[in-house]
Formats: sequence, C-alpha cells, structure tokens
Amino acid sequence: MNAPRTRDSWQTLADGLQIRTQAFIDGKYVDAASGKTFDCISPIDGGSLGRVAECGAEDIERAVLASRRSFDSGAWSEAKPTYRKKVLLKFAQLIEQYGDELALLESLDMGKPVSDARAVDVAATIRCMAWTGEALDKVYGEVAATGPDELGLVTREPLGVVGAIVPWNFPLLMAAWKLAPALAMGNSVVLKPSEKSPLSAIRLAVIAMEAGIPAGVFNVVPGFGKEAGEPLALHMDVDGLVFTGSTAVGKQLLQCAGRSNLKRAYMECGGKSPNLVFADAHDLDKAAEAAASGIFYNQGEVCTAASRLLVERSIKDEFVARVVEAGRKMQPRHPFEPGAPMGAMVDETQTSRVLSYIEKGVAEGAKLVLGGKRADTVPGGSYIEPTVFDEVAHEHTISREEIFGPVLSVIAFDTEEQALRMANDTEYGLAAGVWTKDISRAHRVARKLRAGSVWVNYWDGGDMTAPFGGYKQSGNGRDKSLHAFDKYTEMKATWINLGG
Ligand code: NAD
Repeated sequence: MNAPRTRDSWQTLADGLQIRTQAFIDGKYVDAASGKTFDCISPIDGGSLGRVAECGAEDIERAVLASRRSFDSGAWSEAKPTYRKKVLLKFAQLIEQYGDELALLESLDMGKPVSDARAVDVAATIRCMAWTGEALDKVYGEVAATGPDELGLVTREPLGVVGAIVPWNFPLLMAAWKLAPALAMGNSVVLKPSEKSPLSAIRLAVIAMEAGIPAGVFNVVPGFGKEAGEPLALHMDVDGLVFTGSTAVGKQLLQCAGRSNLKRAYMECGGKSPNLVFADAHDLDKAAEAAASGIFYNQGEVCTAASRLLVERSIKDEFVARVVEAGRKMQPRHPFEPGAPMGAMVDETQTSRVLSYIEKGVAEGAKLVLGGKRADTVPGGSYIEPTVFDEVAHEHTISREEIFGPVLSVIAFDTEEQALRMANDTEYGLAAGVWTKDISRAHRVARKLRAGSVWVNYWDGGDMTAPFGGYKQSGNGRDKSLHAFDKYTEMKATWINLGG
C-alpha cells in the first residue's frame, strides 16, 4: 500500500494532468458537432480546467445511434453473463489503478477534498462495479406454477438503450450507480454528466473500453440540461431514462418520458433529511459529531445531508453547544490538504444560493450560532463556513427547502409524536436518523419515518448490499443492491405448450 499523498504530491499530480474534454461517442473522443465548448472552472481557485465539448441534439442523436447499433450487434447485450462479469471486474480493477487521477479530477472539478474523493467516491465506485459484476450471474429467472402440459418461463431481458443523467455532488459514484447495473444487464448507455462536473465521466469512458466494454456500449455526452439532457430524455429510441438530481428536474424528466415513448423512467431526487436526537441517546458526543459531519461532509452537498436536527428540548441547548464545537473544527481547507473536512462549494452560483438561504434564515428569525459567511480559504475559490442555526421553526424556509450546502437547522421537540410529525411533514423522504438507547422507541420511530433509508444511532449507514432511494418526492426506483437490476430489465413471460 502506498503512503497517503501529501498536498504537494497532489499538486504535482495536478500540474502534470492531461485533462480530456471531448465527448466520447462510439468508442472515440470527438468534438461536439457544433464545435461549441464551455469553460470548466475549478471552484478551488476559480481557474479554468479547459474547455469541454458542449453537446446538443445532434450529438445525442449520434450517441443514441451508436448505442442502438452496439446493442443490436449483440456484442455486449448477448454476451454470456460470465463474460460481462469478467469485464466489470476488470473495469473495477482499472478504476482502482487510475484511482488517484479520478479522485483528483473530482476534486478539481467540483471542489471536494481530494482525500474524500479517493477514500469515499473512488472506493465506493470500485465496490459498486465489483459488487455488481459479481452479482450479475446470480440473477435467475423463474418457472411459473403450471399444470403438466405447460411450461411458463419468467425471464429478464435488457431494456436496450439507457439514457443516464447525473448530478455534480458525487459525479463518478452517481454515474457508477447507474452504469454498473445497466451494463451488467446488457444495456448500452448514453451518460450525460452535469455541466458542473463532466471530467471524471469523460475519463471513465475510455477506461471502460480498456476493460473490454465494446465501442458504442458506453457513450458520454457532456453539456447542459436543456441542450443535451432534454433531447436525451425526449428521444424516441431511448428505452430507459435514469436520473439523479433535483426534484424539479426529475418531474420534468417524467414528463419527457410521457411526451415521447413512455420510456422506463426512474428518478433519484432531493432530500431534507431529519435527524432525531432523543434525550436518552447513548453518547451525546458521538451523536453531536455525527450531526455535524452529517451536514458538513462534502460541504453539505449531499442528497441525504442531515439538514434538519430535531432535538428533545431537555437536552437541546447542551447538545447544540456540542454540535457547534464539532462543526467549528470542520472549517473548509484547500481540497488537496490531507484530511480537509470540507473543500470548496461546486461553483459561484451554488455559493450565492446557499448564502441567500443563510440571509433568509436570519431574516425569518432563526438564531445563527455558527458560521454564516463565505470563507476566504483560497483566493478566487468558492468556500462557505460550516453554519448552524438554532431556534429554527418547522415553518421556516431553511427548515423546509433543500439548501444543498453546509447549513444546519436545529428544531426542538417535546414528544416523540411531535418529532415524528415534523420529521415526516416534508415533500421529501430520502433518509432519516434516530438516536436513542430505548430499543422499542428505535424500532417504533424507524418504522414510522417515511424515508427510504433510516439510520439508528449513526448516520449514513449502508453499502452495495442494500437498496438506496426515496419515498415521496425524493424519487422512485432504487439504486444499488439486486433491486437496481429491476430498472434495467424488462420481464418476459414465455408460455410453452407441452401438450403436443
Ligand atoms: P439538477 O437537477 O440541477 O441537475 C442534475 C442533472 O440534470 C444535470 O446533469 C443537469 O444538467 C441535468 N438537467 C438539468 N435540467 C435538465 C433538463 N431540463 N432536462 C434534462 N436534464 C436536465 O441537480 P444538481 O444541482 O446537479 O444536483 C443536486 C440535486 O441532486 C439535489 O437536489 C440532490 O438532492 C440531488 N441528488 C439526489 C441523489 C439521490 O440519490 N436521491 C443523489 C445525489 C444528488
């Protein structure tokens, strides 16, 4: 095992990095048909990382055609599961091999600490690819219950061409959550990364080829939502559309599916996750540290961020003091500094959005007890201090809307019933946490929380073995686990008459 890199060694690697900026269609890097490009800015210091191909409808057409051709050729779609497994395992191994470079691209492009990008994003991407590769030949069909003169077979078939549209907060990992099960089931994929973070996906495409994915099976089309995402969502020859991003865009994409060919459409959307701390929690220091890292990790740009902290009134003041202490230690640092607890916000637009929520919190009467300002971590960069609001009312805007930044709202409760009512009174339902040493309460509350993931006495548990997704307007369908395969397959019932 190599020694962890220092800030200087990340910088040296960055200085020598050859950044790919073209689209990847039919096994080749190509410019956008229009020749257009957009500037890719690093939020670390506001510098340009290069000009990226700005794909539009014509490029989507080329990518979908290449996907369809590759799918129809059967080179991947009809390959034996054992072969596809071998290729995905090789893909995982290559992601490990290029792990430092991928982590660096992630950090440069969207500002997260490079040590997190390496230890979490890249590591989880490898695990996703390897786990899915290992799982794909354990997926069996079924035999229906029949009389002696019939045979009923239930089999899975790939959808065909899958369009995947992903966000910027975990660019590589969100792409992998779609790509791995889609490829495992034999589909061809057109991936549109976020315009704010296209670089790791562009690099991943050629790594997939090196692993043995045939040309045309995995295409990457960088570009903007309206110009590149929408033509993909509306395309009549795309069979499945999978998305991770905001609820507002998820709703538009469901309409695109309806307005076009009723493509299978699965949306993983936003959240406003409640973290419930009861007075009888085992270890309030641990709970406070988890409450702080649950909101400040990845600069709060996490769909499952623990953005609403609901605390039993009898311990509220003492608990908030501990959260503030833990949060104060999580100030943003240069993303190349090993162990930086926070890095840069993804861009200036997101920074202004978060700062305007902070202003609104103050204006609506919540009490600012930590942070609240830009941080001048690196000249030209986009950084925000870890921010905590106490005495937030459930009705306040900062308690109701997804901020997607390092801003915590603390709300006091008096009874379990009141806590549950506030926790569930939201349009979202992605994740929730509960801290208590009363096992009956833990189960009771976990059952009643309307969320796709519930964590008891910690935050952010889970791995590839369990499904991930949301209730209500946090989305439909599930990523990860064997359940993810449902999104990428059609089910066929074949009846055979044995009666002669
Ligand atoms: P976003 O919805 O603005 O963009 C997501 C993607 O959709 C981008 O690639 C974007 O270019 C594309 N897009 C935007 N408008 C489009 C349109 N009209 N047609 C087609 N494509 C379009 O979201 P974001 O700001 O990139 O990401 C943040 C959001 O993602 C947050 O709401 C967060 O909660 C959510 N998220 C959810 C999960 C989950 O698993 N549920 C995981 C990560 C992030």
